[in-house]
Amino acid sequence: MNKAQSIKTDVLIIGGGPAGLSAAIRLADILKSKGLERDIMVIEKGSAIGSHTLSGAVIRPEVFRELLPDSFEQIPFDSKVAKSGTLFLTARRRIKSPVHAPYMGNKGNYTASLGAVCRFLAEQAAQRGVGVYPGFAMSDILYDRHGNVCGAKAIDTGVDQGGKHMANFQAGTRVEASITIFAEGSRGSLTKKLIDKFDLQNGRNPQMYSLGCKEVWSVKEGSIAPGEVYHSLGYPLSLKEFGGGFVYGLKDNKAAVGLVVGLDYADPSFDIHAALQVYKQHKSVRKILEGGKLLEYGAKTLPEGGLYSLPRLYAGGALIVGDSAGFLAMPALKGVHLAVRSGMLAAETAADALAAGDFAEKSLSTYETKVMESNIYKELRPVRNFRQGFSKGLIRGGIRFAAQLISGGAGFCGRLRAHDDKDTTKTIAGYKGKPFKERFGAKLDFDKVLTFDKVTDIYFSGVAHDELQVPHLHVNNPATFKTVNIAEYGAPRFE
Ligand SMILES: Cc1cc2nc3c(=O)[nH]c(=O)nc-3n(C[C@H](O)[C@H](O)[C@H](O)COP(=O)(O)OP(=O)(O)OC[C@H]3O[C@@H](n4cnc5c(N)ncnc54)[C@H](O)[C@@H]3O)c2cc1C
Repeated sequence: MNKAQSIKTDVLIIGGGPAGLSAAIRLADILKSKGLERDIMVIEKGSAIGSHTLSGAVIRPEVFRELLPDSFEQIPFDSKVAKSGTLFLTARRRIKSPVHAPYMGNKGNYTASLGAVCRFLAEQAAQRGVGVYPGFAMSDILYDRHGNVCGAKAIDTGVDQGGKHMANFQAGTRVEASITIFAEGSRGSLTKKLIDKFDLQNGRNPQMYSLGCKEVWSVKEGSIAPGEVYHSLGYPLSLKEFGGGFVYGLKDNKAAVGLVVGLDYADPSFDIHAALQVYKQHKSVRKILEGGKLLEYGAKTLPEGGLYSLPRLYAGGALIVGDSAGFLAMPALKGVHLAVRSGMLAAETAADALAAGDFAEKSLSTYETKVMESNIYKELRPVRNFRQGFSKGLIRGGIRFAAQLISGGAGFCGRLRAHDDKDTTKTIAGYKGKPFKERFGAKLDFDKVLTFDKVTDIYFSGVAHDELQVPHLHVNNPATFKTVNIAEYGAPRFE
């Protein structure tokens, strides 16, 4: 049997998205300015940097000027936002709001392929001597004898679906580190373990999530200009479903179209991927896409709970950054700039800890203080009750949001509690509204021209799995899967 190899580094960063790569760049710069030589390693599970990143975003650029003052102009943003609007959609009509919904203005922002931006950040990191290693998923956290985090272990390879070692079995490499930065994005598998192990969510609201499905299209010339940005509320969502759609114009006649929906909906048959296909059939979206071609698809969760749902951001030997921590400016649907900022603050903390040789919880707790004194806090504080306020539907949510806007975020009664998204889902028998399929009928017959079934869209996501690999999705409770998940909630069957 092949024994696990061990390697050592000073700082291990798990995840090569905007948060992890910014942490690496900033840390390398600070260490250089202090004359300190330390090893920094970024490990990314995608086969290449950017391959797990959804393209087509609108990004706030200011923080990038601080991260890369000398090479800001070379960052491959796509286009400066030239025109933007908020639309209210009904099944047949669109009403353009004369003003932007609060926090949704995009003046000074850029459209971008986030994958291209991440590839650029990875090059910048590598030029500073950071080891950037795509193609390795970290699967276990390593702990030292005091219980502090001291690195992570990569997933074993050459294991069949049943968990048996095959002839090509190779134990995953153990990467030992003084500091491990968790930058895995939303619902990171190791971050969840870390939060559980150190009870980091204690006293905080549970995290609330939405799911975003996005497609990038090649469109006919003149369908939408680069830098044209639209957010929409309403159709195909009902007043009980929280979320909205977007269409962004990119260079070279491309467009990103997507739908983001809070996972606290009641209808157990609601399907966000299918709802995106319905959204694309609305005449104001259809006219942009018609005659074009699907290029890419992706789906990802967003952590929406805001300030009150942030876990404690540190443990002995560990820091949490970006979406893994829950830094998302929800009303604006933007997380990239907060991911970068949190990466930079984690880097400052890590640099101090490396200089002092102290990686204990107390030393790393300065990261949370830095976050609370930073623009992240300033941006999240006024909207601290935003998402929870919408948990009882859009009308009550709108009234609460109005109260929050005039009270600096407090609203009618201060801190609003949140609940786990799943607690809102009704059983098939218990759901009294019109089920998803009845609401949209023939619109759910996908034509593979404008609209696509899940399997086709997944083909366009570029995800590749080994036929024999260990499944990474697990049924939590197999004993009740058929009787509860399938029979009561209509979960997809697989035999
Ligand atoms: C549909 C949708 C639209 C969005 N639109 C915008 C927008 O327009 N503007 C904006 O600012 N934000 C937007 N966001 C949010 C934005 O994408 C995130 O806030 C941002 O990407 C967070 O960066 P991150 O580095 O924390 O995480 P990620 O970008 O998710 O990167 C995490 C990386 O870690 C890797 N990873 C995870 N686990 C492991 C592991 N165990 N081992 C190794 N590698 C691992 C992943 O493969 C991934 O590459 C959108 C999100 C969605 C879902």
